[in-house]
Amino acid sequence: MIACRVCGAPLGAPAYEAAGPSMTSIMTLIEGPMQVFVCEGCGHAQSPDLPDIRAFYDTGYRISLASEDHDQIFAVGADGQPIYRTAHQAGIALRLLDPPQGARVLDYGAAKATTLRTMMRSRPDLKPAVFDVSTDYAAAWEGWVAVEDRATYEAPLCWTGRFDTVMSHFVLEHVAEPVPFLKEIWRLLKPEGRVLISVPDAVANPGDMMVADHLNHFSAASLARALEVAGFRMEACDATAFPGAFFVTARKSAGVVPTAGDAAEAARAARAACGFWGGAAERLAAAARRLSGQTCAIYGAGFYGAWIASRVAQHVTLSGFLDQNPNLAGSTLFERPVMPPADLPADVTAVFIGLNPKKARAIIAQVPALQRDGLERVWLDD
Ligand SMILES: [Zn+2]
Repeated sequence: MIACRVCGAPLGAPAYEAAGPSMTSIMTLIEGPMQVFVCEGCGHAQSPDLPDIRAFYDTGYRISLASEDHDQIFAVGADGQPIYRTAHQAGIALRLLDPPQGARVLDYGAAKATTLRTMMRSRPDLKPAVFDVSTDYAAAWEGWVAVEDRATYEAPLCWTGRFDTVMSHFVLEHVAEPVPFLKEIWRLLKPEGRVLISVPDAVANPGDMMVADHLNHFSAASLARALEVAGFRMEACDATAFPGAFFVTARKSAGVVPTAGDAAEAARAARAACGFWGGAAERLAAAARRLSGQTCAIYGAGFYGAWIASRVAQHVTLSGFLDQNPNLAGSTLFERPVMPPADLPADVTAVFIGLNPKKARAIIAQVPALQRDGLERVWLDD
């Protein structure tokens, strides 16, 4: 029997299930089927543990480690310019955390802690601290985080009650036991200290449901439940500042006020997202059979594009990936080149659109190279 990672309720049959391999958030393939379960009790969705979760994050998970300048693009602004994740995230964190002058700020699950470092450009008074479950990032902390304010694998006992604020960006979705994780943050905070948690919103950004190492797919309701169980008083859940993600703030409080999200509605939305992916997998398989032997490209070198590649590459000739992120131009994904959209090869007859299906049509309408006569566009949603 599988139990909900948030409320402990027993879970029934999976809402989504597909044969392996499954795709991780860093676009590597792992063995084993992909399953998503939905909890009717708290509105949480979850996938099974990875085969070796500790080794994966200790030595296998090296996001953004290769280049100091590499930054993830998460949107394209109205002016057509890419919007980068770190600067946007830092701005939201400063606004929502509102740290007091000279505050001790811990980045929990920090990786290179680029968000915290960016925050300090406008708030040099902040005292930074970092924690991660890997030593891979130590060099990135050198020179701006004091030695006593760095920890790996385990946060020391002397950190109990040390921090005014703790933030944890896009970590909780990876965690097998989210409530103990939040309780540990509770321990590290001063009384009435504030925590900021960011996680993907798998209903707003449905590809998240298919990410094998995202063991948790939170709803506003299940986030509220997890924080409450860990002893926090939830303050706000912002679902708009960072499209496709929740940024939630809560205080370490003695008198926890029960919070009530609409768990039944959250569970319904999670099931609908799972159903979408079952349909998308069937549509892709049909398109790949129909386009068999033709030269195709994939628009989007992120998770959606990689997921499509894993499903169609054995049927069609993939010439490469198109992506607007200038940092990705010249790189490769699954041994195929990543090109600016304007470099779409002339012999490509069809382009699979690997973007968030809720935004894909509006984005593609702004890409002149994809309006070419006779070019077929294959969408995830129809
Ligand atoms: Zn639950």
